[in-house]
Amino acid sequence: MESAEIARRFLRFFEERGHKVVPSASLIAEDPTLLLVNAGMVPFKPYFLGQRKPPASRLATAQKCVRTPDIDEVGKTTRHATFFQMLGNFSIGDYFKAEVIPFAWELLTRSESDGGFGFPEDKLWATVYLEDDEAYDIWRNRVGLPDHRIQRRGLEDNYWHMGVPGPGGPCSEIYYDRGAEYGKEGGPVADEDRYLEVWNLVFMQYQLSQVRTKVDFDVAGELPAKNIDTGMGLERMAAILQGVDNIYEIDTTYKILDKAAELTKTRYGRDPRADVSLRVIADHVRTGTMLVADGVLPSNEGRGYVLRRILRRSVRNLRLLGSGDDRYMHELTDVAINVMGEQYDQLKADAPQIHAVIDAEEASFLGTLRTGTAIFDVAVEETKRKSGTTLSGDQAFQLHDTYGFPIDLTLEMASEHGLKVDEDGFRRLMKEQRERAKADAAAKKTGNADISVFGQLLEKAGKVEFLGYDQTEADTS
Ligand code: ATP
Ligand code: MG
Ligand code: MG
Ligand code: MG
Repeated sequence: MESAEIARRFLRFFEERGHKVVPSASLIAEDPTLLLVNAGMVPFKPYFLGQRKPPASRLATAQKCVRTPDIDEVGKTTRHATFFQMLGNFSIGDYFKAEVIPFAWELLTRSESDGGFGFPEDKLWATVYLEDDEAYDIWRNRVGLPDHRIQRRGLEDNYWHMGVPGPGGPCSEIYYDRGAEYGKEGGPVADEDRYLEVWNLVFMQYQLSQVRTKVDFDVAGELPAKNIDTGMGLERMAAILQGVDNIYEIDTTYKILDKAAELTKTRYGRDPRADVSLRVIADHVRTGTMLVADGVLPSNEGRGYVLRRILRRSVRNLRLLGSGDDRYMHELTDVAINVMGEQYDQLKADAPQIHAVIDAEEASFLGTLRTGTAIFDVAVEETKRKSGTTLSGDQAFQLHDTYGFPIDLTLEMASEHGLKVDEDGFRRLMKEQRERAKADAAAKKTGNADISVFGQLLEKAGKVEFLGYDQTEADTS
């Protein structure tokens, strides 16, 4: 079953059950606490909080999502993409647990010829929040799932919130058993590779006032109404329904992967490291394309930095596969536009602008890499000669300051050589540089500065500064 058909089926199922189908919102979040939309409910948050009136009390969407915190998993697990689509049905003060669990079960197990996804019942498992006897009871007695396939989990896994004050509540997740070749028995609690999480049903009921960590928060009270928010991973469903090993091999991603393999003359499935690179390229080119299409431009902060990092990682991985100075992003982006164009018409019309942005970023990064890599190699050699295991803060700072190497690139490249980087030292030097610039600016104000030196310093200090990814957005998983 094609990706586009999975989305259609999901939306049709809920439309038939009284839901209003709403188009995906842009990846650029309106919500000021987020850079990018990372879950289907994000555009609806004001409805759940009672701040805005929804167009209907039952809604369904296929929402574009980007999850930067998952970036390091990409290509290594079978299930994490940076861009993916979350299929969701929502109830704003309408139905609750007793309706949504049977809905989900019906859609998953109903035969394909009858509009469902045709999953065999005995492949499905569910988790519920430790104390949620109500959800357990619905799974057990309404759906008829046997006890051993309903697992209870704690706050870490089965309580949802956005990482910031706002709505929250317990959730129930549905997993598909991919079989013994994917890992050990015992349900999702035992192995999340074998048991693939496909759908999360959130029972959004509380207003959280303080969120200190995933598991440490204060509940201020009940929301204006009890709500339902669900998220089904379209790409994960596609992996199962298309019978492929992982989400990078589904219809909308594999063509990009295949093109990257062809361009770099790499055979997929031969060398595990090259395979990871191919999967990263496929994922990132798709994500980059979708971000640019929604109006994000590469920059050194915020969502622009997310995009820059994604595009640069694509280029770096192409180079790891031997692309050298050849430029392949244009052709790869073409494939991404074509495959995603089936679901997003506008992509094809916007192709010239998308190419212009991505091509320019590739060209500029290749320039940075050419000069910086030579210096980086010397630093690695020096460190290894002294039997060191860590690149100094000084080396990382020089690479950043003189050659424009962002610290994450230095970190990644160092780890490929089995080396660490003295990040604390790096950040200390960055801070010193900032302070020098500040002191100088102050001196200029009082008229005591040697203006020519100030000018030079400002030129240096005015250069971009790395902003940690951790500050980019909260992971809502
Ligand atoms: P996981 O535990 O596998 O990281 P999650 O619990 O973080 O997933 P949710 O936040 O519950 O995921 O999101 C709802 C659904 O969206 C998931 O059940 C999954 O199908 C899908 N999903 C989440 N993250 C990703 C991702 N990085 N790539 C593809 N699909 C995803
Ligand atoms: Mg999970
Ligand atoms: Mg989940
Ligand atoms: Mg996650």
